[in-house]
Amino acid sequence: MDMLNKLNIYQIEKRAYINGEYVDASDGKVISKTLSFDGREFSGIAACSKEDVDKAVASAKAVYESGVWSKKTPSERKEILLKLADLMEEHLEELALLDTFETGRAYINYSRDSLPKAIEAVRYFAEAVDKLYDESIPVRGTDTAVIKKVPLGVVGLITPWNDPMVVTAWKFAPALLMGNAVVLKPAEQSSLSAICLGKLTKEAGIPDGVFNVVPGYGEEAGKELALHKDVRGVFFTGSAEIGKKIMEYAGQSNMKRVALECGGKGPYIVSDKCNRIAEAAVVLAKNMFYNQGQICSAPSRAIIHKSVYDEFISVLKSESSKYIPGYSFDETNEVGCVVSREQFDKVNRYIELASEEGADVFRPTVTKDKPEGAYCISPAILENVNNDMRIAREEIFGPVLAVIKVDSMEEAISIANDSEYGLAGAVWTDDVNEAFDLTNRMDAGLVHLNSYGNDDNSSPFGGVKQSGIGKDKSVHAFDKYCDSKTIWMHF
Ligand code: NAP
Repeated sequence: MDMLNKLNIYQIEKRAYINGEYVDASDGKVISKTLSFDGREFSGIAACSKEDVDKAVASAKAVYESGVWSKKTPSERKEILLKLADLMEEHLEELALLDTFETGRAYINYSRDSLPKAIEAVRYFAEAVDKLYDESIPVRGTDTAVIKKVPLGVVGLITPWNDPMVVTAWKFAPALLMGNAVVLKPAEQSSLSAICLGKLTKEAGIPDGVFNVVPGYGEEAGKELALHKDVRGVFFTGSAEIGKKIMEYAGQSNMKRVALECGGKGPYIVSDKCNRIAEAAVVLAKNMFYNQGQICSAPSRAIIHKSVYDEFISVLKSESSKYIPGYSFDETNEVGCVVSREQFDKVNRYIELASEEGADVFRPTVTKDKPEGAYCISPAILENVNNDMRIAREEIFGPVLAVIKVDSMEEAISIANDSEYGLAGAVWTDDVNEAFDLTNRMDAGLVHLNSYGNDDNSSPFGGVKQSGIGKDKSVHAFDKYCDSKTIWMHF
């Protein structure tokens, strides 16, 4: 059975989830868009406005203040979130189909990788929350200061479309577990799985109003959430351009806490002292071209020593032919298509720009038919690139890799760090001193040595410079969703 037909067995909910109920946008507006897996038109997801955001925030605030969630013990909240993770697992197929339908990413990628990771993230945070302690400081003989973690109150989450449930789980799980009430604004390209989550939170036992979903356009629903004076923190993943706006909204309104996970232009250095050139090329191709390069931490700038360049580029070109896009619902295909026609046009403009800037563009031979009506792009490897070109500086967010040849590792690290971004990067070398030196000097939140994309919920994820402020994942993420409060006690 075509997995797309399987979607028919599920009732697709398109309304907002506010105060425990599915509701239309108050002015009846809906999102209309073209789906990228076959070019069909799709309409009907509620496009929330200020009025809907106000309602969601008001219900979140009321339930937060009632204490039915915020005053539960961490172990009580843990049990409920573990139930939610179980329910997400039961609904894994439905969630994966919804995300594939809207974003065009391969179904098996969602069902085998992305959704299991989201569920594991919820379990990780749930299991961790009742192991946290407050602090007590015996300041003087007669005085003690207690430093408590207190929830922020109502928090807004604004998320992107490229890995919808994973990024959402990284935020809603620690936020809820710390006792906050959540209003989530998913990306307009990937709202259905977030909306579906609403009913699962109810079934898991999360009280009405504690978890709300306001789908809609960023300029309207997202902006109103980030400007709202009763929202105490806004936690955003998306582009650096919008991340900067979120900071402005916080400043214009109530100085709410802001955390940002933004884009990247990941440097991938291969040294002349690397003994596994072919492996370095294979790992790069996988991390760069899966999901059509729509990965924030993709290693999109390869910086290769001239003496290993020819071997490296030859393996890379041959590997790239494994990442030809296909029909998103085909269970044998790992590469779906890009998310939208706009993304398709944007990425293709960059490939044209590469030639205009003087780069050589390699595309692997495509032997299979392009899925009918789909917006998909085969990998592009750009050679003869220098780091001043726009194709080396700007995040393309497509299967487009810039390759820069260098004479030395000194030049390599200087190029790697010459970027507005600093999310993730890699160094491939078998010289231990060089490994120590370059991994320490690389200006990024996440650096891989002789590997890429290693991932675990226990390790923080996020960038420096314009890749963001604050980190998702790990026990440190809890701190983002609470304040510290000092209580002085005199005896
Ligand atoms: P985006 O255009 O910045 O949008 C992100 C979210 O912000 C969406 O929900 C969007 O709503 C909303 N938004 C747009 N304009 C807004 C405004 N004026 N006020 C408030 N919210 C607004 O990013 P995207 O295209 O969805 O995602 C791709 C980007 O995310 C890439 O740059 C990628 O690197 C980054 N990303 C980073 C990480 C990380 O962990 N560092 C992870 C994944 C993705 P609409 O959908 O309605 O526009």
